[in-house]
Amino acid sequence: MNKTALTPPFRERAGLKIRLFGDPALRKKVKPVKEVTPVHRDILSEMAQLMYAESGIGLAASQVGVNESMIVVDIGTGIYKLINPKIVEKEGYQVMEEGCLSLPGVCIKVKRAKKVVIKAECQDSKPVTIEAEDLLACVFQHEIDHLNGKLIIDYASLFDKLKIKKKLKELKKRSAYERVSESETKSCKLQL
Ligand code: ZN
Repeated sequence: MNKTALTPPFRERAGLKIRLFGDPALRKKVKPVKEVTPVHRDILSEMAQLMYAESGIGLAASQVGVNESMIVVDIGTGIYKLINPKIVEKEGYQVMEEGCLSLPGVCIKVKRAKKVVIKAECQDSKPVTIEAEDLLACVFQHEIDHLNGKLIIDYASLFDKLKIKKKLKELKKRSAYERVSESETKSCKLQL
């Protein structure tokens, strides 16, 4: 099937798609999930598939245009599918170069807490507390930022801002449904 045969609304219904910079969904603060339903579980499993397909290590609901508080994370040690995740404790700091599946081709140094404690709900509505450090702590903070409408570019230094100006302009013009090039996804080691 050629590309023009599938118009965006059709493709959206056919499955979740990662929204790119410029899509208003990325700047919205999501709503908490009041009651976990099979629909939430379906969305979480679709988000996980999408994350793996794009070689990501984290994905937030707002990145697929879902306005509810859900994230998936897997840094290679097993999957976390979390509902209503919140940071309840932070300690120390670390700086990592982060990429974002919604900002292909952009890589930003972000200073975050080195250790965090997360409280959330699992798919079966059971509460869970997770202690995370280093990379895992970084990924949780990145994804929870997404749920609050915050992106890595909000941490960019003046120098970084100048460097990515052209790229952001280009991304804004691009359709969210357009395929991302391989060189863009590989521009940063961490894709979240
Ligand atoms: Zn991201």
